[in-house]
Amino acid sequence: MRTPVPDYLAEVLDGVAGDRSGAVADYIPDLAQADPEVLGVAVTTVAGRTYAAGDADVEFSIQSISKPFAYAAALADRGTEVVDATVGVEPSGEAFDELSLEGGTHRPKNPMINAGAIAVHHLLVGPDATGAARVERILDFFSELAGRRLSVDESVYRSEMDTADRNLAIAHMLRNYRVLGEPAAEVVDGYTRQCAVNVTVRDLAVMGATLANAGVHPVTGRRVVPADVARRTLSVMAGSGMYDGAGDWLVRVGIPAKSGVAGGLIGALPGQLGLATVSPRLDGHGNSVRGVAICERLSRDMGMHLMQAEPYGSTVLRGIRPDGDTTVVALQGVVQFSGAEAVLHRLAEMPVDDSEIVLDLSRVDRFSDVGRRMTLEGLRRLALDGHTVAVVDPDGVLPDPDLGDGTRPQVRSRPAGGG
Ligand code: GLN
Repeated sequence: MRTPVPDYLAEVLDGVAGDRSGAVADYIPDLAQADPEVLGVAVTTVAGRTYAAGDADVEFSIQSISKPFAYAAALADRGTEVVDATVGVEPSGEAFDELSLEGGTHRPKNPMINAGAIAVHHLLVGPDATGAARVERILDFFSELAGRRLSVDESVYRSEMDTADRNLAIAHMLRNYRVLGEPAAEVVDGYTRQCAVNVTVRDLAVMGATLANAGVHPVTGRRVVPADVARRTLSVMAGSGMYDGAGDWLVRVGIPAKSGVAGGLIGALPGQLGLATVSPRLDGHGNSVRGVAICERLSRDMGMHLMQAEPYGSTVLRGIRPDGDTTVVALQGVVQFSGAEAVLHRLAEMPVDDSEIVLDLSRVDRFSDVGRRMTLEGLRRLALDGHTVAVVDPDGVLPDPDLGDGTRPQVRSRPAGGG
């Protein structure tokens, strides 16, 4: 059998191929030369499998899609407090190149607009870092995420520097308010190189999948950013990644995302996948027209909208069966808050007596921290009611089941009653 996923992606591309609306960005002269017909998509699951269709190996400059990753690097390098003091996390509802700062603090509103991204670039590595060290950090970090060595497209970089007046104006404004501690031109130079790193949709899909996988690279298994950094980055992408189109995007697509003026678009669906598209013609917000259409279709067809989650908790309680004087309560899957709540709700109905209750965990994949704490607390209360409690845990999914008062349930390696 051949997996149908690539065929499905190819069909999605076919569906949008006829849309020639929008225009290639031309404020960076080199980007105006881009082939407007380029069209590609790639999806990488958190298990590390990539599916692609169309122009999946065509390189283009990452542009603003670099912003969430530079933000993640700055958070890892400098910590939340320093980064928060420099740039906010509020959606601006403004165009990407707006000359705007938050009243009072003079911080750029978020790291997804140019003002915020220029400030973030200058935070990279450390307070005394050289411009070259920051660019090196970006190249090393993006390369590790992509799983191959990336490089700056010198022609795109030079072309943008030739016409960078607006970003220079933003940087001068930041320096005026002491948000930047060094010459505007130097920081814009580094930021522009950051934007000129060449990538393919395959690179971007795996980069997005790393964020979706809580910062662990899905192919190498290495932790590339701390989990809280990945969560924060995705949160900012959800609120501001699509600029003044962010609200509409969240309603229609519902996937944390970021667009770039070279026509790239990245999405990261927490716990599931990273996805990326390329198609250079842009809409009025500077987002790829066909990229947005592809993401809308994927979200709709594949139920990817973040606000439309499965009722995970209801599947955790697999069943309850009597076994002589014992009651066996079988759990399954991933036990998080709502799953543990469903189990506790059912256990609360057990008559108060001295019968034995066995929690069968042989089909549980894992407990989240809260799932574990709630389950142990439930067992503690059953024991207080007079029950004998035991767990069947052949795979050790509930190690060290201390009930919080020094006591432990009996631990068995096989389900009771042969079942
Ligand atoms: N390098 C571009 C700029 O700063 C990035 C903008 C974008 O991709 N939206 O103008």
